[in-house]
Amino acid sequence: MELLIEKIRKEGVVLSPAVLKVDSFLNHQIDPYLMHEIGKEFAERFSGCGITKILTIESSGIAPAVMAGLHLNVPVVFARKRKSLTLINDLITASVYSFTKEESSEISVSEKYLTDDDKVLIIDDFLANGQAALGLSEITSKSHATIAGIGIVIEKGFQGGGSLLRGQGFRVESLAVINSLENGIVSFEKPSEKLEELIR
Ligand code: 5GP
Repeated sequence: MELLIEKIRKEGVVLSPAVLKVDSFLNHQIDPYLMHEIGKEFAERFSGCGITKILTIESSGIAPAVMAGLHLNVPVVFARKRKSLTLINDLITASVYSFTKEESSEISVSEKYLTDDDKVLIIDDFLANGQAALGLSEITSKSHATIAGIGIVIEKGFQGGGSLLRGQGFRVESLAVINSLENGIVSFEKPSEKLEELIR
């Protein structure tokens, strides 16, 4: 997705060979037009799959997931990472190891919002080692809903998540795939075009 790749080239900040910061449009400040286009792209890629619900994880998955929900005309559920006073009964939970926080936490969804009739599209902002997506797939399986696929805004192809999830048979659609962040350079998976950019 060219618009997204351009945005990453212009505004992404390589924090280390493993971590990309995109706080200016996805993880802190949000670019609504870009999110709208991202949602449209997910909707196109998964059109005809009979999606009835989108499942994401707070907080950075919510913006792209809502826009995909808008285009697919289906509700969006986000897994909570923290305990909530209002979210107490009938929870479906999974344990997720956080790539950025380097700790495990329990994520939960009310069973009211995922049923065995649902066909679920899982969406997240980044794919690194695949733990967040696996946690969401575990919650979906526990609810007896079906997983139609996984939509990722930015996949870091050099980490293991993509192979892990695809190896388990999931359809994973990533809108931008990064092959390397070595030496402060974002290198995209797109051999036909020169998309390497020194951004910091
Ligand atoms: P995974 O569970 O696939 O290892 O990591 C995915 C989760 O970690 C995403 O939900 C995302 O919030 C966070 N994450 C992983 N890598 C990055 C990164 O390079 N930059 C940012 N901003 N978040 C990341």
